[in-house]
Amino acid sequence: MRLRIHRGTREIGGTCIELETMGARILLDLGLPLNAKDLASTPLPDVEGLSAPSASLLGIVLSHGHRDHWGLVPKVNPAIPLVMGEATERIIRAAADFVPDAVALKASHQLEHRKPIQLGPFTITPRLVDHSGFDAYAMEISSGSKRVFYSGDLRAHGRKRKLFDALISDPPRDIDLMLMEGSSLGRLADDATFPSEENLEEAFVTRFEQTEGFALVACSAQNIDRVVTIYRAAKRTGRGLIIDAYAAEVLKATGHESIPQPAPGWPNLAVYIPQRQRVQLKTKGISALVDGYRGFRIWPGQLAGSAPRSVMLFRGWMMSDLAQANALTGARVFWSQWDGYLADGQTGAALKADCERRGIAFETIHTSGHAGPSDLKRLAAAVAAKRLIPIHTFERLRFPDLFSNVELANDGEWIDV
Ligand SMILES: [Zn+2]
Ligand SMILES: [Zn+2]
Repeated sequence: MRLRIHRGTREIGGTCIELETMGARILLDLGLPLNAKDLASTPLPDVEGLSAPSASLLGIVLSHGHRDHWGLVPKVNPAIPLVMGEATERIIRAAADFVPDAVALKASHQLEHRKPIQLGPFTITPRLVDHSGFDAYAMEISSGSKRVFYSGDLRAHGRKRKLFDALISDPPRDIDLMLMEGSSLGRLADDATFPSEENLEEAFVTRFEQTEGFALVACSAQNIDRVVTIYRAAKRTGRGLIIDAYAAEVLKATGHESIPQPAPGWPNLAVYIPQRQRVQLKTKGISALVDGYRGFRIWPGQLAGSAPRSVMLFRGWMMSDLAQANALTGARVFWSQWDGYLADGQTGAALKADCERRGIAFETIHTSGHAGPSDLKRLAAAVAAKRLIPIHTFERLRFPDLFSNVELANDGEWIDV
């Protein structure tokens, strides 16, 4: 077996790994680079069979639903089989109605925790992991006597940290080559740790208690761990959580009744359809979607009155609805995603500026979706691969200091396993 990393040896985003054995090939992830302007102007990696059909390309396996791992898939020949988690497939489909450039993807096989899948000569054994993206997998790929382990994106401080502990206590064995993500390197000191989702819950509780009006939390609806954290903090402070149709559809698509959603058993949750979304749903001919939220709706005239008892999953463009409804008195905005999006020219920067103009307090409460260096060390030691190649990192040169058996690779070069 041999492999090549098309993108990711020196960057986070655009992850794509090609594996080949006995004349057959598969791809692990086909992501959109972080610095991509748009889908149309971003070229596909140089993989035979992505555009013109090739019988040797057996499929594309997607580790999870973040765009930096699947974003280029809409550009490939639709006949190529796609493999992904069942909830990932549903969430991508649900989001497609709301997110520009998005499409619904159809899986030919579904990843399930520890259930091997056979694709030609490749046996893929997924491991569900803790990550900010829902339904995320690491995976072992074996063929003959050779074994590769790909970490995907993962962490140990989220709501599913038991999965990380399980991976450490019962790791894949006899791994010849491990591809391990290193997103946190360079973002966190080697001996420091990220706050846990439980830590964040406490921080939100304190802040919600201090907030007189609306607590507006800007986070990704697809970061299910975070939505749960915010829901729990809202409930503990006597507030209800207000979500929009996009978040409602994503939460329903998880397929887990234990996750907050507009369904029986979740009285602390309401759905508000912002004006812009109402128009969008009408234009797309899917206005009937909102019928599913009957009994959970909150209307513009109720926003101001509900504000002191509510938390809203919020995005910058929703501000005009709240302003129109006079619901911004005493409001505070909490930024609960990567602070890179607050840099000049990014979407978060516009929201921050808008808050300044309106005199609304703006604060970041966030933790990473990726394992810190000490957790990565535990993972690398547990797997004890013969060779460890950095991927999904801007700091590959830090790897040899932190881990054993590190080998540095270059984008596009074939590596014999
Ligand atoms: Zn991810
Ligand atoms: Zn990623």
